[in-house]
Amino acid sequence: MAASSNPEEFRSAFGGTIFEPGDDGYDEARSPWNGDIDHRPVLIARCSSPGDVALALDYAASKGLEVSVRGGAHSYRGTAVTDGGVMIDLSALNTVVVDVEAKTARVGGGTTLATLDAATQEHGLAAPAGVISHTGVAGLTLGGGMGWLTRLAGLSIDNLLSAEVVLANGEVVRASAESHPDLFWGLRGGGGNFGVVTEFEFRLYEIGPMISFGMFFWGLESGREVLRLARDYIPTLPPNSAVLIGVGLSAPPAPFVPEEFHGRKGHALLVVGYGPPDDHAEMVSPLREQVPPLFEFLTPMPFTALQQLFDEDAPWGVLGYEKSLDIDDLSDEVIDVLADLGGGGTSPMSFLPIFSLAGRFTEISEDDTAFGGSRSPHYTVNIEGASHDREIFETDRAWVRSVFDALSPYASNVGGYVNFMAEADADRVRTSYGPDKYDRLAAVKATYDPGNVFHLNANIKPALT
Ligand SMILES: Cc1cc2nc3c(=O)[nH]c(=O)nc-3n(C[C@H](O)[C@H](O)[C@H](O)COP(=O)(O)OP(=O)(O)OC[C@H]3O[C@@H](n4cnc5c(N)ncnc54)[C@H](O)[C@@H]3O)c2cc1C
Repeated sequence: MAASSNPEEFRSAFGGTIFEPGDDGYDEARSPWNGDIDHRPVLIARCSSPGDVALALDYAASKGLEVSVRGGAHSYRGTAVTDGGVMIDLSALNTVVVDVEAKTARVGGGTTLATLDAATQEHGLAAPAGVISHTGVAGLTLGGGMGWLTRLAGLSIDNLLSAEVVLANGEVVRASAESHPDLFWGLRGGGGNFGVVTEFEFRLYEIGPMISFGMFFWGLESGREVLRLARDYIPTLPPNSAVLIGVGLSAPPAPFVPEEFHGRKGHALLVVGYGPPDDHAEMVSPLREQVPPLFEFLTPMPFTALQQLFDEDAPWGVLGYEKSLDIDDLSDEVIDVLADLGGGGTSPMSFLPIFSLAGRFTEISEDDTAFGGSRSPHYTVNIEGASHDREIFETDRAWVRSVFDALSPYASNVGGYVNFMAEADADRVRTSYGPDKYDRLAAVKATYDPGNVFHLNANIKPALT
């Protein structure tokens, strides 16, 4: 494709929608999930096809403009939205086509988890993804993708079969185990470093439509006992379950929460069963026996409701900040830090969701994907500060940093998960992947994006060739 720096030529060839400063819809289109970000692209190209993506890349290159890629706009750093460059907006590429027989789905590069879940659950199927349904499939998958199905089916990337990618030079390729295997490896964990993914193909699982959900909630004063209980309990769970630890979680003002506990901070264990309800009831019984909770809530619920359970706790436009790290175990030292500091967030939205990575997740070999963390059973601790109030947000940002600093000496990977990085300096990205994986990623980067066009991400610098 010949480079065109002529805006009129670009406009007439482009099949999607273009927004420029002052246009109706520009401000909405440039606003990411994190309300702390205020970036102003000179042009937003809402693409309707891979060809549009190639045209937008070409236009940006011809003008020497920076490029950003927007999937679901949930990056904490707001990397979906360039300040002063061209934003490639994939939100219109949100079609999900399910092959019921083959149990696979082709998913547009701008799809949200809610759209993916709705389309797959129509057939009693699901793809492993995350725990908040307004998140984008693209960014989540490219960094790994952990959520309620990780123990049962692995990460999102462990179920990626192929991806259609527009490369920096405008070429459209399909990456899979057979075609461009180096690119396919890099896409599975290496973030948006290698090109613009316009379509993902996932393996699906028979899930639901109903699942069994249990929430057990204890006061902050029981922190040490509860976290020791979690340490012993979680490794006993079967693969067809899921568990999330909520440290410093605020009890929601929901009908199932006794009114006296509304808004109270505490620690929770959320346990999901995908098998028969009786198995789930038996599975959770040790929780109430060993440390009596303040309240518990057991219910069957649709899988799609589970996927939306936390949506209100992380609303669009909130000011958000986070840091994460991996720990191998809930050691006494880790428990001391969590019990002493975990409940210290001022905002009811600030807490620590702790993901248990186990089961099927551990059956994938370390080298199979570019995922940054280890494949042995471990926990990813996400320390999250969020508020609509600027002053409270700044207080909680300091709290996030203090909890991170206190946990760091006990971390197995202090770089944490690339998708949970509000700050992604080069050292941190390299630490997250480890030197060997980082160097392999850098070689793939040098092949597919030697000019580092795609640098608004957890950036891998192209290896020097
Ligand atoms: C409220 C909230 C809840 C979350 N929950 C989870 C969770 O449960 N599990 C989990 O694993 N993570 C979770 N995350 C982290 C999430 O995975 C990352 O923020 C991820 O980047 C979001 O993807 P996105 O497409 O929405 O974001 P965007 O901001 O649109 O994209 C982030 C980056 O990904 C790249 N990118 C996006 N789309 C494409 C594309 N089509 N092709 C190439 N590159 C692309 C770009 O580099 C972009 O800068 C959560 C984040 C938030 C804010």
